[in-house]
Amino acid sequence: MKLTLQIKLLPTKEQAQSLLNTFKECNSACNEISAIAWNIKTFNQYRLHHKTYHLIKNAYALSAQMVIRCISKVANAYKLDKKVQRRFKPLGAITYDTRILSYKKESVSIWSVDGRLKIPFVCHNQKYFPYIKGEADLIYKRKKFYLFQTVEVPEEDIKDVEEFIGVDLGIANLATTSDGQHFSGKQVDKVREKATKFKKALQEKGTKSAKRHLKKFSGKERRFKKHINHTISKQIVQIAKDTQRGIAIEDLKGFRVPVRKGQREQFGKWAFNQLRSFVEYKSTLAGIPVVAVNPKNTSRTCSQCGFISKSNRKSQSNFSCLKCGFSLNADYNAAKNIALKASINRPIAVHTELVTTPILGTAIPCGLAPR
Ligand SMILES: [Zn+2]
Repeated sequence: MKLTLQIKLLPTKEQAQSLLNTFKECNSACNEISAIAWNIKTFNQYRLHHKTYHLIKNAYALSAQMVIRCISKVANAYKLDKKVQRRFKPLGAITYDTRILSYKKESVSIWSVDGRLKIPFVCHNQKYFPYIKGEADLIYKRKKFYLFQTVEVPEEDIKDVEEFIGVDLGIANLATTSDGQHFSGKQVDKVREKATKFKKALQEKGTKSAKRHLKKFSGKERRFKKHINHTISKQIVQIAKDTQRGIAIEDLKGFRVPVRKGQREQFGKWAFNQLRSFVEYKSTLAGIPVVAVNPKNTSRTCSQCGFISKSNRKSQSNFSCLKCGFSLNADYNAAKNIALKASINRPIAVHTELVTTPILGTAIPCGLAPR
């Protein structure tokens, strides 16, 4: 499975300046290559190489390999469309490969306009280092330098399991398992409450700097949710691994967050999709089968006797069966139904109700995964 490792570089002041100069040199070279490509209407990498390589190599302080990477960047940019001339920002991402970047235990050796730099780094997923394969993007954001490195991690064979943990996704509890464990959204709520007030104040201000703050802040919020999703998915997959069970989770297509006024934006649909995709890829890496279950009626069905009624659900949090009197936390009851559906469906369907979902080739940044 392809993943993207996020590696944060810790350069000295001088090294940081060298990296910034490298960005600028590469991107102005890219702009010149792009202008040539545009003028002679040549966008194919191979042909562009012939037309520009020597010129760029002589005019810029770039290594041969870096010139090749710049030509490749321009050619790729024109793949999207050839209707406008591509221009590159001075500090836009640049791509490295193994000839100009290598990893040591505690530092990276990276090419720059001032020669090779040995820069210390932090990465929470260093266990994936043996699987580094292919290119890395050097990115400058929020005044920090990151490498987004592609790794190709071997997957474990999918284990044969008898039982499944059901996972219900919701608002009050972001995730609830069929064992009755809740992963609370409280932490998220607190941050959100603060965020709403803060955002409202900024929006009312409406100045340029307020807008800038707003943008910065929404990035923070997104990163926070991502962190929460990593934490929750990691725990769920660990439970499945420890108890030798598979994971049953609601099928995305049918999945709707209960739309109650004021609740809709609480966690965001993308955040649920992200949580689900994190559960999937972490499971695949661990060899744990994941099945997607049709969520129809999972919140209205009694997990004890199977009776289905809308009125079974007394409130957001309470389930109480009108037929047999069984009562339980509503999310817990739904999670139990999801687990039941997975176990029942298991021997029959493969392509419809029950879908094992390997997400091969999907790049998911996992740099923020907690240790
Ligand atoms: Zn019942």
